[in-house]
Amino acid sequence: MTALNPAGWRPEMHGAGGAADTATFTGNRALMLEEPLIFEIGSTATTGVDFDEAAPAADLGALMRRDPIGLPGLSESETVRHYTRLSRQNYAIDLGLFPLGSCTMKHNPRLNEKVARMPGFADVHPLQPQETVQGALAVINELAVWLIELTGMYGVAMSPKAGAHGELCGILCIKAALEARGEDRRVLLVPESAHGTNPATAAFAGFTVEDIPGTAEGRVDLAALKARLGPDVAGVMITNPNTCGLFERDMKAISDAVHAVGGYVYCDGANFNAIVGKVRPGDLGIDAMHINLHKTFSTPHGGGGPGSGPVVLSKALAPYGPIPYSARYADGSFKLIEEENAGAEHPDTFGRMTAFHGQMGMFTRALTYILSHGADGLKQVAEDAVLNANYILRSLEDVLDAPFAASGPCMHEALFSDRGLAEGFSTLDIAKGLIDEGYHPMTVYFPLVVHGAMLVEPTETESKAVLDQFVGALRSIALRAKNGDPALKSAPHFAPRARLDETLAARKPVLRWED
Ligand SMILES: *Cc1c(COP(=O)(O)O)cnc(C)c1O
Repeated sequence: MTALNPAGWRPEMHGAGGAADTATFTGNRALMLEEPLIFEIGSTATTGVDFDEAAPAADLGALMRRDPIGLPGLSESETVRHYTRLSRQNYAIDLGLFPLGSCTMKHNPRLNEKVARMPGFADVHPLQPQETVQGALAVINELAVWLIELTGMYGVAMSPKAGAHGELCGILCIKAALEARGEDRRVLLVPESAHGTNPATAAFAGFTVEDIPGTAEGRVDLAALKARLGPDVAGVMITNPNTCGLFERDMKAISDAVHAVGGYVYCDGANFNAIVGKVRPGDLGIDAMHINLHKTFSTPHGGGGPGSGPVVLSKALAPYGPIPYSARYADGSFKLIEEENAGAEHPDTFGRMTAFHGQMGMFTRALTYILSHGADGLKQVAEDAVLNANYILRSLEDVLDAPFAASGPCMHEALFSDRGLAEGFSTLDIAKGLIDEGYHPMTVYFPLVVHGAMLVEPTETESKAVLDQFVGALRSIALRAKNGDPALKSAPHFAPRARLDETLAARKPVLRWED
């Protein structure tokens, strides 16, 4: 470990900007504060809190810890500052546009937060007697009714805790339905443009995944799909709008063909914000679709959570949906259908996805978002999301290769590639250049069907002024990459760290500091 000066400053911490004549004693640059690792500044002899010596635990046997674990400590104020400084090196939707395609990072209205923090919602406990949480059950139920209405489906499972979890729920419904029919179909067809969670879910649920190719215009190849259908096919998993940012126009024909051979249709509905209020998946013959509440109905996410992935189900699959769920009775009361009463009320359920009922905070936020927008406002969400993405696509297609620009309007996201950049320049350089311009980069190298992909989702919550500034920044970076500006190869120049070895960080993370 390198020796530290008293302020914890190591010269090599500073990428660009550390030139001798501009270097500061602390390493800070005005309000851009340098922050070492806690292992570098803390010590095992320091603590911010005084605890009494713990009494020996009764009988932990071999579980009893015998040696100190050696975590470094700081004083209370140093601890607060350490984490506050680190948090300031983060990028957040409240700081600026977050153009990640496929992730839908949009503004989260503060009203949602206010409602979610009301003690009657925030403080409920899942083990409270049901008569004391009727309001919470009503919220879950009302949100469920809205989701069914908006999707034109028959039922909904509210408990899955993220999009991928919802996929698993839907596929387990399909599995249960096939078992009930006494059929052992093993193959799930997944287009090659699918989100990575789709084949992962199918494999996790024990199915064999087979790829279906895409067409030159970026959509599922209907003829290839039809050619593969047969009695061994359990179903398809199709993302719509898809990860190329396009609406699968053949969706109804795909569903009809899959149903004709006895299969089921799973739709990845993570991008429902592009079509909410415009298209009802139920009308397209879909049997199961997860909705990412954290993408379509606001609620903050990123950095690992939380999320919420309710799954809407067709009449054919609804009987197999998971417990628990909140049911409304004729007298207006709500009751959870769980193991005890499922036999009478929901006998074919495949079982439980989670310990309790899902993400209560997400439900409250999503319902707040839905009610504050109203049906007409939700329709406008889709219109604005699509308008903004097309504005980005058309504003940049003259400087960045847009592989599917000729396939018609895009949906919620605009797809570009690094074709046509100067020799030696790639998507990574554009992304790093965006960091210097103060933006979180767009999604890079996804979808895999496009070489050097750049996927930009502006979302419906950005104004034209914000989009214009972003377009200006991306346009200038694209031109630099086309003209081979060597400075772009070492960007970012203004970030606390420049280019890290991402492979090494992923493959060999240093999780324990050794002196
Ligand atoms: C985000 C996303 C998922 C996964 O959702 P999580 O909530 O992150 O598990 C799946 N499919 C698509 C198309 C997505 O955009």
